[in-house]
Amino acid sequence: MRYDVLTLFPDMFESVFGESIVRRAIEAGRVEIHVHNIRDYATDKHHVTDDLPYGGGGGMVMKAEPIVLAVEDLLGADLVARQKDTGRVEVPVVVLTPAGRTFDQRIAHEYGRHERIVLICGRYEGIDERVSELVATDHLSIGDYVLSGGEIAAMAVIEAVTRLLPGVLGDMRAIVDDSHAQGILEYPQYTRPSEYRGQEVPEVLLSGNHALVARWRREQALRRTLERRPDLLADADLGEADRRYLARLCDREDEDRNPQRS
Ligand code: SAM
Repeated sequence: MRYDVLTLFPDMFESVFGESIVRRAIEAGRVEIHVHNIRDYATDKHHVTDDLPYGGGGGMVMKAEPIVLAVEDLLGADLVARQKDTGRVEVPVVVLTPAGRTFDQRIAHEYGRHERIVLICGRYEGIDERVSELVATDHLSIGDYVLSGGEIAAMAVIEAVTRLLPGVLGDMRAIVDDSHAQGILEYPQYTRPSEYRGQEVPEVLLSGNHALVARWRREQALRRTLERRPDLLADADLGEADRRYLARLCDREDEDRNPQRS
């Protein structure tokens, strides 16, 4: 997988990708990350990359030209034009923006199937809309809040996609159990010691009974999802036993709220 990142702050990526799983993936030859300074594609003497917004208002807007030229230089103008003409995406060209669709594990899997992705990081008030019209194939937000730049969002996308690539994680079982992998949150995790400040590890986890552990984990994952992210349950892949367990939890909550009814 090759990532090309367009940014005004290339140095931001050095320490993040010099560490941990992404670094190991680079060293193992599973991913390449090329960070490009948008300023290098500005054609004027002073390498200007932003200007005042048409229509007035505060702040500056990133100019379209350096970004469009950068994308065409990386992918070739023909491929860029073909993608826009046909709508068939060969290399996703992604603008990071709070006005995008919300990035999630499903999109991370979707991107993991590509061999190359271009990520465009905005700054200031954002990017001239012609970048979207001429080269972008997607717009991604990492959540309903506003950051000062797209760099942290690009890092989040790269890390989430990279850890799904075959051979990147030492133990691929982690991916299967992770929160959002199966549409619900992950079960609680414990490690040694078995008792800490009076809090004990649930006995079932010490039992060595794999079937019981698996059932406990599934139920805890459902319970946690119901408590923290009930919105996920509507689309989750649930079996009959899962539904019965959730129904029991909901009944219990009802009883706790209205003890006189039971
Ligand atoms: N005026 C823009 C708006 O309201 O949509 C926000 C601009 S923001 C201050 C500057 C840049 O940060 C954006 O161009 C984008 O690249 C990045 N950014 C901010 N929040 C983001 C988010 N939630 N997800 C992805 N990128 C984000």
